[in-house]
Amino acid sequence: MSAEPVLTLADLAAWARPGTSLAVLGHPIKHSVSPAMHNAALAQLAAVDPRYADWRYFRFEVPPDDLPRALELLQAARFHGVNLTVPHKVIAFGRVARLDPAAQPAGAVNTLRLEPAGWHGFNTDGYGLATAIRAELGRPLAGAHVLLLGAGGAARGAAVECLRQGCASLAIANRSAGNLQALLDIVRPLAGAIPVRGFAPGEAPADLPAGMIVINATSAGLRPGDPAPVDLAALPRPAAVYDMIYNPPRTPLLQAAAALGLPHAHGLGMLVHQGAKALELWTGVPAHCTAPAMAAAARAALA
Ligand code: NDP
Repeated sequence: MSAEPVLTLADLAAWARPGTSLAVLGHPIKHSVSPAMHNAALAQLAAVDPRYADWRYFRFEVPPDDLPRALELLQAARFHGVNLTVPHKVIAFGRVARLDPAAQPAGAVNTLRLEPAGWHGFNTDGYGLATAIRAELGRPLAGAHVLLLGAGGAARGAAVECLRQGCASLAIANRSAGNLQALLDIVRPLAGAIPVRGFAPGEAPADLPAGMIVINATSAGLRPGDPAPVDLAALPRPAAVYDMIYNPPRTPLLQAAAALGLPHAHGLGMLVHQGAKALELWTGVPAHCTAPAMAAAARAALA
């Protein structure tokens, strides 16, 4: 766990730090490894470029009702950039002065940059997911048959990214039929000629293709005793399995993937690459330059 203290709105209201400040806001925030990742990357940058010597990344515990006030205070204190985590990604989406067009279909922003007109919102989660799957499983989303598990906020971002990258087909499985239908209604208009379909996890269609990339975007696996969100052995043999969950690192889904001899990876890489892309938006330093330092810091913080 990072040694960064958990700050509050009261700390923000009294902010007088002269250097360049960055922050992550969440509720809860105490388990976030983002401060460890970003401060490790900033230390790496400062070692070769004195412009970064006074840059620092802080964490703030902000309940959802306080987000508007927090964004006002952060702007008044001239924070250069902000990351948003649960539950702020969707709330902040409607509150930015300017929205990156690529963030529009995700309906959520995880990165803000302060500009003269106010906060400019971006979403780097899709980049993080695609980059992690390519780097760790050797599979581009472009041209892949994807089976996406889940229909919440993370699944929406993942579905949008799969379509944006030009996947060959997208199948979505979710426990609750209503949430599945809502996600299908959002993503189908974005799909063009890419086939999109949905089903309940225990009712996989017989004609699903072999060689799919399975992506878990459910929270099944976060808690001890959670079931795997799908029975991998009942599917045509997938090519690879990516679980967005990284803590715990071995979920029931990844254990099943290992037992079947399938390439698999947990979600820490996604977290690292979305963070490195956010830092690129704030500094201009390409994400691939800072991702290794972030990965090492994230692993150490979780150890
Ligand atoms: P949401 O609460 O928005 O959605 C949760 C999803 O999980 C829903 O589809 C829900 O299904 C499903 N679900 C929950 N419990 C179960 C269960 N026991 N069995 C089957 N399905 C279940 O959460 P998010 O979309 O924000 O996050 C989802 C996961 O993604 C989390 O584990 C989160 O940690 C991870 N994540 C990882 C990131 C990374 O950088 N690695 C980034 C963002 C998220 P239903 O509709 O039926 O309720």
